[in-house]
Amino acid sequence: MASITQTDSSIRTDVAFQRCINPVCAATYDTDVMHASCPRCGSLLDVTYDWDRAHVPSKLSDFEAMWSQRTNPVRFSGVWRFHELLPFVPQDQIVTVGEGQTLLQQADGVSKFVGLNAGNLHLQYEGMNPSGSFKDNGMCAAVTHANMLGAKRAACASTGNTSASLALYCSATRLMKAVIFIGSGKISYGKLSQALDYGALTVQIAGDFDDAMLRVREVAEQLGIYLVNSVNPFRLEGQKTIMLRVLEALRWEVPDWIVVPGGNLGNSSSFGKAFMELKELGLIDRVPRLAIINASGADTLYELHERRGLRWNGGNVNMDPIREYMDHMDRHGIKADTLASAIEINRPVNLKKCLRALEFCDGVVRQVSDQEILDAKAQVGAGGFGCEPASAASVAGAKILRREGVIAPSDRVVCVLTGHELKDPTATVAYHSTDQELFNKTLGSRGVTKASYANKAISVPNELDDIIKAIQLYA
Ligand SMILES: *Cc1c(COP(=O)(O)O)cnc(C)c1O
Ligand SMILES: [Zn+2]
Repeated sequence: MASITQTDSSIRTDVAFQRCINPVCAATYDTDVMHASCPRCGSLLDVTYDWDRAHVPSKLSDFEAMWSQRTNPVRFSGVWRFHELLPFVPQDQIVTVGEGQTLLQQADGVSKFVGLNAGNLHLQYEGMNPSGSFKDNGMCAAVTHANMLGAKRAACASTGNTSASLALYCSATRLMKAVIFIGSGKISYGKLSQALDYGALTVQIAGDFDDAMLRVREVAEQLGIYLVNSVNPFRLEGQKTIMLRVLEALRWEVPDWIVVPGGNLGNSSSFGKAFMELKELGLIDRVPRLAIINASGADTLYELHERRGLRWNGGNVNMDPIREYMDHMDRHGIKADTLASAIEINRPVNLKKCLRALEFCDGVVRQVSDQEILDAKAQVGAGGFGCEPASAASVAGAKILRREGVIAPSDRVVCVLTGHELKDPTATVAYHSTDQELFNKTLGSRGVTKASYANKAISVPNELDDIIKAIQLYA
C-alpha cells in the first residue's frame, strides 16, 4: 500500500492552526504554511486544535474500534488510527506507508537489570517501523503536511534515522524528492545505506550534526524546500501517537514513568504535548512522569535542567544560562561525542518545548556514559528484540533513577526503544568481540573499558570432535 492522497481538495483550516509557544507572543498561523520558527518572535510553533470542532471520542477505548477497520490503510496505520487527536488534515489527504506497528514488550530480564519488580518494565519497541525507527511516526505526518502544501522537495539534517525515514517516504510515495544533510564520518552505515538506497539526494557537510542543522535551515529557507526536522510542528503531531499506543497496550492505564533518550528533544516534547492534550480533553486522569536521558558526551539538557536549574517557568524561560552554556561550548570547541550517534547533539532545537514537557510531566533529566549505554543495550538484546545504542540510554537511565530511589521498584516504567538493533551493529559487534584490538579501536576511545554482558563467540578448530566438545561444554 502506498499513499492515499488527493491534492486537489482544499486544506481544512477550521479545526487546526499553528500557535507560537511563547505565551508573550502567542501569534497564530494557518496550517497552510510551514514555518521552522515563529516569524514574529523566533520561538517554536505548536499545531493547536479547536477541540470543540474536532470529533474526539469521549474515551480512549473508543479507539479500539479503529482496529476493526484495518483494511482501511488509514486505520491500519498506528499513527492515523488516532487521527481524531491530530486532525490537521482531512482523512482523504493522509499519507501512510503502514507506520506505527509497534510492540510494548514486558521484559522481565531487563526489569531485573534495572532493579524493578518483575512485570513492571515495559519496552516500547519502535524498531518495527518501515524504516526501523520511531521517526516514521512523525515523518508520515510531516510528509502529509508537505503534500498538502504541494511541496516537491523535502529536506532534513540528520544523524541518520530522520534521513532514512524521509528517504523512505519519498521513494515509497513518489510525492516529493528527499534532500538530506549529514555531518561527516558520524552516520552509521545501516542508516546511510537506507538513504542512499531509497534514492535521496545526500549532501555531506564538513562538520557535525549541529553544523548540518544550521545549514539545512538556511538552505530550506532560501530554496523554499519543505523542512522535516523536528522544528516542524506537524512532525511532532505524529510522534504523539507513540504514547497513545503505549496507553493502548496498557489497556488505557497510565504508567508511572516514561523514559526516553534525548537528542534534538522532539520526541520528549511530543510526548509532553500528547499528555497535555489528553489531560485537557479529560481522556486521562493523571499524567506519567517523564525521564529524559542524555548521553554524557551530549548532555546539554542535563547541564541546563539539572545543574543550572533552567525551567519552562510558564513560558518565561531564562535565556541567560542557555546563552552562557552555548558560549562556553563555542569558546572551548566542545563538540557532542558519544557512540549513541542518534543523540549526539549539543544544540537541541526543541529545548524550550522540552522544558514545557518536563514541567507538565514533573520530569527529570539524567546522563549516562557510553559504557552504561552499551551494558544496557546488551541486556536489552539478551532480553528481547535489541535496539541501537541511543535507544538503550533509556534503560541505562531508568537503572540510574532506580538506584537513586527516584523510581521505586513497584513503579510501572515504560522505556522507549527508539531504533532497530540493525541500524548500527558496529558497537554491538565490538562489544561482544573476542578481538581486543577491535574492542579498543571501536569502544576504548569512548571510555568503554569492559563488556560485562558480552556474549563472545567461541573459536574451535575445524574438527568434528572439537566442535561437539565445545557445544557440550557451553550449551
Ligand atoms: C532521533 C533519535 C533519537 C533522539 O530523538 P529526539 O527526538 O531527537 O530527542 C533517539 N534515538 C533514536 C534511535 C533516534 O533516531
Ligand atoms: Zn512568536
